[in-house]
Amino acid sequence: MFESGKPPAVEITDENKEICRKYCTICQNYKKHDLGRNEPKELFCGCGASSAQNMKEIGCFCPACPLFTKYHLRGGYYCVRR
Ligand code: SF4
Ligand code: SF4
Repeated sequence: MFESGKPPAVEITDENKEICRKYCTICQNYKKHDLGRNEPKELFCGCGASSAQNMKEIGCFCPACPLFTKYHLRGGYYCVRR
């Protein structure tokens, strides 16, 4: 288990944002809902859900992202789930 009893929070860094963009910006959900036009634009697992409204959950790529593994994340669809 983790020393603090829970997984470490995702660090909001330029490096992590760059990694995120390789996955989030090419997923169906991101393109369909044009998430680049809303804040936050990436790293939803650290920054929180997109401010875009009425989103559906389609084709999340998070499980393939190295940060998903590094930070012991579960579920995906961080741009939708608040
Ligand atoms: S969190 Fe998942 S569904 Fe949302 S934009 Fe990123 S990869 Fe796509
Ligand atoms: S787990 Fe998803 S939201 Fe988080 S950095 Fe990776 S692709 Fe982006």
